[in-house]
Amino acid sequence: MSFQFKPIGLIHSPFKEKFGIPRQPGLVPEIRATLELVPPYNNPEAVAELEGYSHIWIQFVFHQILNQEWQPRVRPPRLGGNQRVGVFASRSPFRPNPIGLSVVVLEQVVVDGDSVVLELSGVDLLDATPVLDIKPYIAYVDSVPDAECGFAPAAPEKLLRVQFSPQAEEQLQGRVDAVDLRALIIRLLELDPRPAYAAEDGRVYGFRLYDFDLRWQVDGDRVLVLELAG
Ligand code: SAM
Repeated sequence: MSFQFKPIGLIHSPFKEKFGIPRQPGLVPEIRATLELVPPYNNPEAVAELEGYSHIWIQFVFHQILNQEWQPRVRPPRLGGNQRVGVFASRSPFRPNPIGLSVVVLEQVVVDGDSVVLELSGVDLLDATPVLDIKPYIAYVDSVPDAECGFAPAAPEKLLRVQFSPQAEEQLQGRVDAVDLRALIIRLLELDPRPAYAAEDGRVYGFRLYDFDLRWQVDGDRVLVLELAG
């Protein structure tokens, strides 16, 4: 049996590469993104009453790793990247069917003619991610407060203190953004996005966010934002 699904929408997010994206939704509430429904699904009827929900489930394709092989065991970053667990006991993107599932905040439903856009926050999604389906989050079904959660019993700790260089401070002050960029950068970096195998003090890391490269460096438990490069 095989199936073919068409994307019903596309994500527009500030993340232009995989590195730097939080490993799960909700960890960085400051992230704003949109989900734009594509024809023929951009029918306002399809989202009628959706605004009554504060959260939605998004099923999406890990489109940037489509050609990569899956393995039955993976090494979750949560276990420091050196212990293996079964792929189905993990949220790894490298799976037999590279489909992801994220619960995100639905800020607003914006319908304007044939443009149907869901404004979201707290996403863990790359820009241009194809979306297969949207479902409302229903607390009495989807929330299981006493669930056992294997090797991920609680949210990851904030590992690093974030500081800004004078250059980064100046660059931040020169920007006009719809989001609190300073708060967003702090929340992203305090989680320490580095894979354990590549965590090196003094090395300059960078990832593309919005229209700039965020460059930063770790020293012990401190991360210094060096610059927002053009
Ligand atoms: N919450 C989802 C889940 O559990 O299925 C995704 C979890 S996965 C660990 C999150 C990571 O997937 C992000 O940190 C990012 O590196 C990666 N990612 C997000 N969107 C992607 C895409 N469209 N293609 C490939 N990788 C993506």
